[in-house]
Amino acid sequence: MSELYKNPANTADERASDLLSRMTLEQKAAQMIQIAYSDIPREESLLWAERGAGSFLHVLGDNARELQNIALSSRLGIPILFGIDAIHGHGLHHGATIFPSQLATACSWDPGIAEEIGRITALEVAADGLHWTFSPVLCLARDTRWGRTGETFGEDPYLTGVLGASMIRGYQGDDLRADDRILACAKHYIGYGEATGARDSYDTEMTFRKMREVFLPPFQKAVEAGCASIMTAYGSIDGTPFTSSETSLKTILKDELGFEGFVVTDWKNVESLVVNQYVAADLYDANRMAVSAGNDLIMNTPSCYEHIIQLVNDGRLDIRIVDDAVRRVLRIKFLAGLFEKPEKKGDPDIFGCPKHLDSALRAARGSIVLLENRGDTLPFSGKIRSIAVIGSNADDIKAQYGDWTYFSHPYPSDIRPAPPFHTVLSGIKELAGPLGIEVQYSRGCDVMDVNDADIEAAAAVAAGCDAVVLVVGDVYDQVGEGKDRADLALSGAQQALFDRLISLGKPITTVLVASKPLCVTDISKKTGALLAAFNGGQYGGLAVAEVLFGQFNPSGKLPISFPRHSGQLPVYYNHLPGWHRGQYCDVSADPLYTFGYGLSYTSFEYSELQVDPDELTVSVTVKNTGVRAGSEVVQVYFRDMVSSVITPVKQLIAFEKLSLEPGEEKTAVFKLNRSDLSLVNTEEKRVTEPGVFMVMVGGDSRDEWLLKAELVLNG
Ligand code: BGC
Repeated sequence: MSELYKNPANTADERASDLLSRMTLEQKAAQMIQIAYSDIPREESLLWAERGAGSFLHVLGDNARELQNIALSSRLGIPILFGIDAIHGHGLHHGATIFPSQLATACSWDPGIAEEIGRITALEVAADGLHWTFSPVLCLARDTRWGRTGETFGEDPYLTGVLGASMIRGYQGDDLRADDRILACAKHYIGYGEATGARDSYDTEMTFRKMREVFLPPFQKAVEAGCASIMTAYGSIDGTPFTSSETSLKTILKDELGFEGFVVTDWKNVESLVVNQYVAADLYDANRMAVSAGNDLIMNTPSCYEHIIQLVNDGRLDIRIVDDAVRRVLRIKFLAGLFEKPEKKGDPDIFGCPKHLDSALRAARGSIVLLENRGDTLPFSGKIRSIAVIGSNADDIKAQYGDWTYFSHPYPSDIRPAPPFHTVLSGIKELAGPLGIEVQYSRGCDVMDVNDADIEAAAAVAAGCDAVVLVVGDVYDQVGEGKDRADLALSGAQQALFDRLISLGKPITTVLVASKPLCVTDISKKTGALLAAFNGGQYGGLAVAEVLFGQFNPSGKLPISFPRHSGQLPVYYNHLPGWHRGQYCDVSADPLYTFGYGLSYTSFEYSELQVDPDELTVSVTVKNTGVRAGSEVVQVYFRDMVSSVITPVKQLIAFEKLSLEPGEEKTAVFKLNRSDLSLVNTEEKRVTEPGVFMVMVGGDSRDEWLLKAELVLNG
């Protein structure tokens, strides 16, 4: 073994430098290219493998193996890095375990489950021989008309950062070389969710101060967690597309945060500089801008290969910039052990195995949020002998799964669901059967079609049963990239269906199987019980049934606010203060359900809030005052009472989930750092300004429910 780079005894940095010194300009340019296998004919992909393309995406199994063999037999034998969108499970692989969406997962406020989802997804992706997932999404969803809201962990930077870092740890573990670990990719850097009017990948209303204050912290946590890669967003900042923003990518991400992995563009970002954003006259210009700004791997604009070569040869692009990009990509390949073991090896029987499904069920349970429960509608009492299940989303596994599964991106081509799975209907049947309870189903109406012809039939079914479960929500055609909605009111004839059922005069349990919060203001006032189940994954419907029958006590808390009306958006809890409370004359300023909110079948009482300004500790006692065991997410917020810049009315800085038996009480203790109370000043510096802070602790972010204590920080 004469070449240094081939010897695993050397460090990844040494190996990358050595290999780089042996590469031609053409080989370097090729390493910077990521080919979308699904986008071009197979023969072309084979050519790209021969040419030394650094990475491919959306290719599985034998097709990937074929490409890898070509790459390995080339002169330098540089292995290809294979990436896939394994977003909530290895969802593009038929048969893999489908977990709740990120938004649904975030309702658990459970970093442990986020890590477990990452770990199991890694096992299944690795068993497919692949190395890398484009996850987690660290965008914040504040204008929830955005089609990708369900892909996020919600609206809060702190919760997003904690859950994102946990998921990254789950994917990557401690050793990137391990057969059961894969590379993570934090995306989309940065502020993608802030697109004006929630129009996907549109212009973004962003300044550098705002970026640093609100949107950067989750990425900082990702970098600290050792995230191997970061994906550039589509939007722009102060007139510069993120793709060509050297300040965002190089100065802030690489230099200030010390990110050592590589930056991959999003889909055709470079081309977009020419055809969508008009800041580059041609692809030469676009490549010069994107590569100089700090993009290391270019997703799906293969012609960049020729352009990069030409730019260097013409002296328009410094070879040192290219070298840095290639070094970053190679370094991660060495760290991931690709040169020793180019294909991950896993157990082929692992996809959707009982252990993984068990985890999907636990994740789904944690994701359910009880929003209303009037007169103890839930859990079902023993007197109920028949249940009417109404609504097309009660039995639509595609709607329940949401985006990034083989339904939404059919690949390889098989779109039949992989059993076992549970919709709300099948979950209810599963639990009702052994209890001798009769279950009747009627669709009532479609989610998108306004045809109300079947509503009467549904009403007749409901009239004849003891309990009514109505499932409303959205379907795949209303979810995902480019599927933003101007109106979040229930679509189709769903509201009319609810109105007819409620006119029967019996309590209704409404379940929201939807990618994100919809406007259910009217329903919230009239329904007996309301559950948010979002996209609960493979066992989402069974988890809902367990909650209905009281087999599981819900403990989910909203990671995102529910709007009262679409015209109220964006509505989020950590908004800035202002005159007139940001009030409309026709709709309240407050959301319908706010961040952090969620009920339980038991109740909790908070007392004895204590703040120690010297130790910077906050403690509070929480007691289960009901008759059932339950879990409560204790949330700590703060407000900087006087600051040099306008700061949010409230910001989450810590939380802990406590499990309490009836009558039991526990004291939660939180250790804060001065930096937890920081802001970004007008010079774009993160500082903690001495003075008075209000610390607020409780079970959700509503003012009237929070215990409050002052904390004075001296200079
Ligand atoms: C999305 C990314 C995704 C990529 C590859 C893009 O359109 O914005 O989130 O990872 O496609 O599928």
